[in-house]
Amino acid sequence: MKLCSACLLGMNCKDNGKNNRDKKVLKLAKKEILIPVCPEQFGGLSTPREKSARKGRKKVITESGKDVTKNFTKGAKEVLKIARMFGVKEAILKQRSPSCGSGQIYDETFSRKIIKGDGVTADLLKRNRIKVVSEEEL
Ligand code: SF4
Repeated sequence: MKLCSACLLGMNCKDNGKNNRDKKVLKLAKKEILIPVCPEQFGGLSTPREKSARKGRKKVITESGKDVTKNFTKGAKEVLKIARMFGVKEAILKQRSPSCGSGQIYDETFSRKIIKGDGVTADLLKRNRIKVVSEEEL
């Protein structure tokens, strides 16, 4: 059993109201249980919503400059709660998202520039010894 970014499984929870349906992830879902999670929705943000990005390690801001750090932190904690509830040890998360990105995220300029780093949820899961892989590593 693994956690999985809900958008990779086809849930329309992305900031633009669409999804990131991924064939490899859907194939895997036929073989094992993937629990869909969307930390940004768990954190109380609406769909569609403004694009967000991490600003340093402590803050998350939207494109218009609104501080949404609390939403991102709450969402990450809710995902960790689910991982603990089901004894999950691995998560497949959407690459480069400010919540789900693992090893790579977009920087705070909203120009699609990629930098090294983890999304807020990926970061919290890793710190709690849960392995995070992106859909690109499957
Ligand atoms: Fe997908 Fe994660 Fe963004 Fe939700 S927060 S839409 S699960 S990448």
